[in-house]
Amino acid sequence: MGKVLILSGFAGSGKGTVCAICREKEPRLKLSVSMTTRAPRPGEVNGREYTFVSPGEFRQTIREDGFLEYAEYSKNSYGTPKKQFFDMMREGFIPVLEIETRGAEQAMNKLDSYLSVFLAPPDYKTLEERLRGRGTETEDAILRRLKEAKEELRRVGRYQYLILNRDGRAEEAANAILDLLRDGSTDSPAVVRDKESFIASFCEA
Ligand code: 5GP
Repeated sequence: MGKVLILSGFAGSGKGTVCAICREKEPRLKLSVSMTTRAPRPGEVNGREYTFVSPGEFRQTIREDGFLEYAEYSKNSYGTPKKQFFDMMREGFIPVLEIETRGAEQAMNKLDSYLSVFLAPPDYKTLEERLRGRGTETEDAILRRLKEAKEELRRVGRYQYLILNRDGRAEEAANAILDLLRDGSTDSPAVVRDKESFIASFCEA
């Protein structure tokens, strides 16, 4: 079984749901709680979804070399605290880093052994529908996220696996990730065989 799970995917990929199913099915998976400078959203609890800190505290942690990786995303900073990460490993857990693509690249450069997965909706149209379906964002914000998604996709080549989260099939995606972690099996139809053509077709849309 793998030692660390690096999971990325843009807004609308269903990353949170798939990750929750994986953790339910494999208790050794433990979500790494990131530090962030963004404000808590309604319902978020300090220390559970994130550790919410000031920009000053975040900079101090960088100075102390306290992050395994960190990055800026939508004008806020996010980072994986090193100590928590290594404590989890020592205790026999498999840390799950649910992080964006630039931080994921740093983590992949530092770690010897990991499973890296990028989770994507099956096509551009589905991504657009999911983002609009939330009904919480302005047209401008939706267009910006779609543009960001295309840029992120260009970094997907660095991930070991690209996995599709098809509508209503989050469990299929979760099972594909667990199979990969357990024995490297890639039989699931959710695993994209030809990453490059998928990325090309997504970007052309
Ligand atoms: P949100 O603000 O929507 O919770 O997260 C925004 C993005 O930051 C998501 O893609 C999320 O996966 C990513 N993110 C969360 N924690 C970390 C972290 O510790 N490091 C990095 N690089 N990205 C993170």
